[in-house]
Amino acid sequence: MKKAVAYVRMSTDKQDYSIESQKRTINEYAKKNSYNIIKYFEDKGISGRDAEKRPAFMTMIEESKKGYFDYVIIYDSSRFARNLEQSLIYKSILKKNNVNLISITEPMLDDDSQLIADALFGAMNEMYSRKLSKVVKRGMTEKALKGEYISCAPYGYFKPKNKPLVIVEKEANIVKEIFRLFLNGKSTYAIAKILNENNIKTKKGNSIDTRFVKKILTNPTYKGYYRFETEKKVILNKSTHTPIIDEDTFDKVQILFNNNNKRLNSKNKPLEYNKHWLTGMIKCVHCNSTFVYAKYYNNRQDRFRCGGYTCGKCDSSFSIGIYNIEDIVIEKIKEIYPNKKYKIKNISDTNQKKYKLLKDIEKYKKALEKAKDAYFLEIDTLEEYSKNKTFFTKKIKDLETQLKDFKKTNNNIQEISILSILTGNYNMALKTKISKLVINKILIDGKNRKIKIIFNAY
Ligand SMILES: [Zn+2]
Repeated sequence: MKKAVAYVRMSTDKQDYSIESQKRTINEYAKKNSYNIIKYFEDKGISGRDAEKRPAFMTMIEESKKGYFDYVIIYDSSRFARNLEQSLIYKSILKKNNVNLISITEPMLDDDSQLIADALFGAMNEMYSRKLSKVVKRGMTEKALKGEYISCAPYGYFKPKNKPLVIVEKEANIVKEIFRLFLNGKSTYAIAKILNENNIKTKKGNSIDTRFVKKILTNPTYKGYYRFETEKKVILNKSTHTPIIDEDTFDKVQILFNNNNKRLNSKNKPLEYNKHWLTGMIKCVHCNSTFVYAKYYNNRQDRFRCGGYTCGKCDSSFSIGIYNIEDIVIEKIKEIYPNKKYKIKNISDTNQKKYKLLKDIEKYKKALEKAKDAYFLEIDTLEEYSKNKTFFTKKIKDLETQLKDFKKTNNNIQEISILSILTGNYNMALKTKISKLVINKILIDGKNRKIKIIFNAY
């Protein structure tokens, strides 16, 4: 049985439907759909315009965070709120508390209003956390202005209580190595890869990623400064701790960093480094974040999980095993593109010949179009046009025959079904390319365990 409460309200302007009959209808609905109604919240004879004047309603909202019910059943949405703003606010509070609202006389929330509710919920959340961080930051700014290092010690340092940073030799060597590799032209991605191959971990024992490398390369702590951002300004002062990198080197790296965005952009990493061919394509409907690939050990399958959840800005903890999502996607592709083939192009000599044929065909097709235009624009006479038309059509036909023969004798061009590429032993770059070609995005609604695949018109 699903745990539910019912909210009923008598409105002054809508006397037609009494509280008792609302309750009766709700009970019938609950019985039919296996909801167990634990409690009734009743507001009698009050206009619904101001939620605050509806004590039972407010109690219901308040209690929704206690977790003893998962559903609120109402007769119709006018019982819930009388204006959009309030409706959105209270719906998002319920949503935040994982309580679903069911209006028995109306269809379920459509996607749009759901989106609006989500957006508002996000905005409210942000507002609260900003207020909170303002208070916290005020205290920190004062300390920073006094020259105290307030954050936790960055990689390479240790922070004794009430004393300046102390160098951790082993970590400091890694920091130096990161700067050296970067100055030697390695990308942040390549550096992260090298460090991982050498089993270097962060302070917390995590694997190194490009974000970590980027942070190290731009943190002025390493040149003996401390940096602190307040709401209005950035405080950057010389500090009392020993630098790991000399100022010149550090500044040189900053220039390289800004000049060479492309090198720093981990999104530009080659496709074959993709962990999975669905990487970047799965989106969370709750927070709009991309699902990230999470590695699991001890024979458990790796999973995709909402990136917003992993950094604390989404409350949907849903994750899906890579084999499960693969199965779902493959099944759907079987339905939609059962026989779709993909041509694998080789840059061999024979293929260049074929490429030239295709180019020529295209050229003559364009010429034919132009001839047609010229006739319609009365530049060419009908006679001229038909002469051109005969010539170009023959050329195209000849080239097409050549191409056909060429294909017959040339086995280098491979046409492989996209399904066998995705399920077979092909490289990640090709698989990624195919999946991006076919799929636009995958939407995951973790809370309702729904997956929607949006395909490209391919
Ligand atoms: Zn999310």
